[in-house]
Amino acid sequence: MEASPENCSVKVAVHVRPLIGDERVQGCKECVNVTPRKPQVQIGTHSFTFDHVYWNGGSQSSSMFGECIAPLVDGLFQGYNATVLAYGQTGSGKTYTMGTGLKEGSQTGLIPQVMNALFNKIETMRHQTEFQLHVSFIEIFKEEVRDLLDYVSMSKSMIANGHSGKVTVPGRPSIQIRESSNGVITLAGSTEVAVSTLQEMAACLEQGSLCRATGSTNMNNQSSRSHAIFTITLEQMRKLHSVAPDNDTPDEDMGEEYFCAKLHLVDLAGSERAKRTGSDGLRLKEGIHINRGLLALGNVISALGDEKKRKEGVHVPYRDSKLTRLLQDSLGGNSKTVMIACVSPADINVDETLNTLKYANRAR
Ligand code: ADP
Ligand code: MG
Repeated sequence: MEASPENCSVKVAVHVRPLIGDERVQGCKECVNVTPRKPQVQIGTHSFTFDHVYWNGGSQSSSMFGECIAPLVDGLFQGYNATVLAYGQTGSGKTYTMGTGLKEGSQTGLIPQVMNALFNKIETMRHQTEFQLHVSFIEIFKEEVRDLLDYVSMSKSMIANGHSGKVTVPGRPSIQIRESSNGVITLAGSTEVAVSTLQEMAACLEQGSLCRATGSTNMNNQSSRSHAIFTITLEQMRKLHSVAPDNDTPDEDMGEEYFCAKLHLVDLAGSERAKRTGSDGLRLKEGIHINRGLLALGNVISALGDEKKRKEGVHVPYRDSKLTRLLQDSLGGNSKTVMIACVSPADINVDETLNTLKYANRAR
């Protein structure tokens, strides 16, 4: 397999987490081998090459950020949208890798590192540029968009007002995905929190993660079957000056330059095959919906990554799911996409791991 060209807008990295306690207890053996000094993994007789391969977590998380994600943060400042997708079966380390969990990865995860890099860069540019930052945090479950930031404020206030138990949002219009005439996708009706500090942004991540975790115990482990999307929107207003020939004349005001770009950080639903567990078939239905998002994503990314298809103007099926619709203006075109395929090294997961590597391979 050839490595993808430098200018390809979709990069694929594989993250092989270490064996975890549960797998050790069960006596699992490792079945995923990483080829030394090559971005290549072997599993049985299969061999796959990606843009990057990371394994055993720990010290590698900083190089994953530096190699795969930091360029997207830089791109934001130049006005380019970007998307980071964590794909893999439930338990493969998606939430840990992204840092959308409550405790784990809350420092080392990719989102906390994005936030650090973002605010560091803003600090160095403050004197010439005005910045505005917004975040939203939503979940797509059964093709419905749920606001993870609004839910928190609602449930908090309801608890404060003496309500208990299940929190339902009364009569709230559902969130709609809209496309403007110039192709910009917006979420009508979702909470956009204006943030000006790292702490404020981190609080949004934490609140939404808490909301997601709380929902999951009530709703049959919903979080493993939903896509969680943390979106950072960066607006910049840059004053333009002509360079004065000598230091005595004041710079001439040349107007302003405006940039707006967003970065989606997506903790995807578990990629495992839906299993019929309930007699009512409920879970199967949810599984079908989730697969719709992952299936559409696979088709979109594969269409984008295929130079030949792109040149022939092959239709990119963004409209096939809420997930791809929402990400439409941040996948393809000038935007950059990184998919991180998360896998367990344990032999009991070999089938799902193979499925994940095949899916990721198709994305290149
Ligand atoms: P997913 O979100 O894909 O369902 P999680 O991120 O919740 O998976 O990870 C499942 C388990 O594996 C968690 O207990 C987590 O602590 C552990 N884990 C995941 N990635 C790593 C890693 N890189 N290093 C150590 N433990 C990890
Ligand atoms: Mg998870």
